[in-house]
Amino acid sequence: MQLNVDRNPGINDLWFLPLGGCGEIGMNLNLIGHNSEWLMVDCGINITSSPLSGAQPLIEIPFTDFIDKQKSVLQGILITHAHEDHFGALSSLWSRWRCPVFGTSFTLSVIRRKALMRGLTPPDLMLETKFGERTQHGSFSVIWHPMTHSTPENCALEITTSAGTIFHSSDWKMDKYPQIGKSFRPKRFASIGKRGVDAFICDSTNAQDPGFSASEGDIVPGIRQILANERGRVIVGCFSSNIARINTIAKIAVKSGRYVGLLGRSLSIMVECAKERGYLDSSINWVDSEHIGYLPKNEVLIFATGSQGELGAALSKLAMDSHRSVSLDAGDTVIFSSSIIPGNEFVVSRLFHKLEGLGATVVHPGNFDETLHVSGHPCEHDLRQMYQLIQPKIVIPVHGEYSHLNANADIALSCGIPNALRGMNGDLFCIRPKPTIVKGFTKVGRLPLPEFRKK
Ligand SMILES: [Zn+2]
Ligand SMILES: [Zn+2]
Repeated sequence: MQLNVDRNPGINDLWFLPLGGCGEIGMNLNLIGHNSEWLMVDCGINITSSPLSGAQPLIEIPFTDFIDKQKSVLQGILITHAHEDHFGALSSLWSRWRCPVFGTSFTLSVIRRKALMRGLTPPDLMLETKFGERTQHGSFSVIWHPMTHSTPENCALEITTSAGTIFHSSDWKMDKYPQIGKSFRPKRFASIGKRGVDAFICDSTNAQDPGFSASEGDIVPGIRQILANERGRVIVGCFSSNIARINTIAKIAVKSGRYVGLLGRSLSIMVECAKERGYLDSSINWVDSEHIGYLPKNEVLIFATGSQGELGAALSKLAMDSHRSVSLDAGDTVIFSSSIIPGNEFVVSRLFHKLEGLGATVVHPGNFDETLHVSGHPCEHDLRQMYQLIQPKIVIPVHGEYSHLNANADIALSCGIPNALRGMNGDLFCIRPKPTIVKGFTKVGRLPLPEFRKK
């Protein structure tokens, strides 16, 4: 039965309304409603690759008509971390709302640089937060908690109102050896639980995978093993935002007598932001991309963009032998320290074959025994442990397709959490005073982002 709710929450209401990221992986845009006010958490894009042509991926943004019409009561935009599925649409959409944007130093730095790279204007009003800090946004009080993930300065949000408290996990994993930043601290989350959480909005990406998510530290032995035996150039494809991965591999490269180069703009931007924050080891011998080709092959390790087979990215140019700085030969090795995003399998396997056609050896998680990549998201046992720590009254699974959300909800209930609300983008999750879902509360959808397609 549909509840007859107003478009705006009252003083006793605490609402959650996802416009993106609930029923899909990507394009996260969450709204929290209370006391006739709204708070936005994240503003991301969705990237859809073309599986057959390898054409430029289609970039999509959420349909935001609901919050566009409520912009006068939008109290703030909180960006949890520097992944495109959480901030990528912000610079394109911000002028609709002109509302203060909050995030950590690294996250805001990435937002600024990426906007400029794409010829966009970053938001005028960006305010830096720090771990442990409390910020106030109208009726919403927010504590920014450090949370281990696969990019630096990721924040989980404890959002308190007079009607109740939401714990928004952001993307997360329990990493004991994250390589950058502090390890996962269970005590911090037990304290949040003790203060009382009405609803836990939780990452569902790996909810169908049993066990615990592996640590970022687990990739060290495999990379060491490869570098100990290689005499040619080593190229590494990995996600540009994984600064811990870049730092770990670059440090091993230095110990193997190799300079470290970068091919690809998005890698250069992420590394610049990381250097600014002091996240990269001072022993790393960086070499300009223009000079990489002139160095002896056994003295070079190169990070390259395009591990998903994107046309025009550095790995694709290397595979086509059309990169202006480097040509690969027999004896060179390309390591894929990355997973294949579902849908990209064909394009990535074609990239493997093209690189092998040049005589290079391709090493990837599918053909190498040691760990070359770990996920930044929680598996079943991470979720179970977190639910024991937070002990919320309700779990709201997000950041997943329907099967992921469902698996996460089942885990929560089996842990003794009294309620799990299962819904999708556009559904209104009423947390207080009475937990329920209003299906199809507002229109949602995806729109192509033209300015990205030109780049
Ligand atoms: Zn995400
Ligand atoms: Zn993320």
